[in-house]
Amino acid sequence: MQKKYIPFAVFFVALLVFLAHFGTRYTTAAKPAVVFADTEKQIYLTFDDGPSTKVTGAILDTLNKENVKATFFVVGDRVYGRREILRRMAKEGHSIGVHSTTHIASQIYASDEALLKDIADCAAVIRDVTGVSPTLYRFPYGGEKRARQKSLVEAQGYTVISWNAECGDGVAKNATAESIVETAVRTAGNKTRVVLLMHDGAGHGATVEALPRIIAHFREAGYAFRAF
Ligand SMILES: [Zn+2]
Repeated sequence: MQKKYIPFAVFFVALLVFLAHFGTRYTTAAKPAVVFADTEKQIYLTFDDGPSTKVTGAILDTLNKENVKATFFVVGDRVYGRREILRRMAKEGHSIGVHSTTHIASQIYASDEALLKDIADCAAVIRDVTGVSPTLYRFPYGGEKRARQKSLVEAQGYTVISWNAECGDGVAKNATAESIVETAVRTAGNKTRVVLLMHDGAGHGATVEALPRIIAHFREAGYAFRAF
């Protein structure tokens, strides 16, 4: 290289270094990542009242096969004899939250102390089996209207999770797979973020049957599956 070109070469290299450094930082900062997350259609499958041996096992099989992560709000008393199922939930990447220890309304809501003890005992079972302290909570019997108790639970460090869509498997004793799919689709409507209430307690065989069709429907409709 001739001597007179050396200053130009130095300037050119310096310019490249400058662009590589600050140019990259600028484009990274300008990426609209948050906007994408807010507009993405998302569905949270949430299962209450388990674990049960057959139903929860079959639901975990389907979720595993479909590569979908879900959230389970468990009943502490139902974990005895089913510790392996709870361990499997955690191992397969699902979220586990507190629902209740007994699921007996008169006991849970007898007093504030009773409510907090019901939660603490269930949390202890989850922690004992999975090694992880739960931070999610769902009120039994539609407690989303219990504003005062909600503040109490939140003060314990829990995030209270309600729902905005349901599949009718908890209320209708004779819910069929067809009615469950239809109710889930209808109550979800065209919400961007769907939190679907389902049940995996014993006797919810119709939910097991409906689950692959619910997943197929929302996947087809462009929803991403999320766990809390
Ligand atoms: Zn329940």
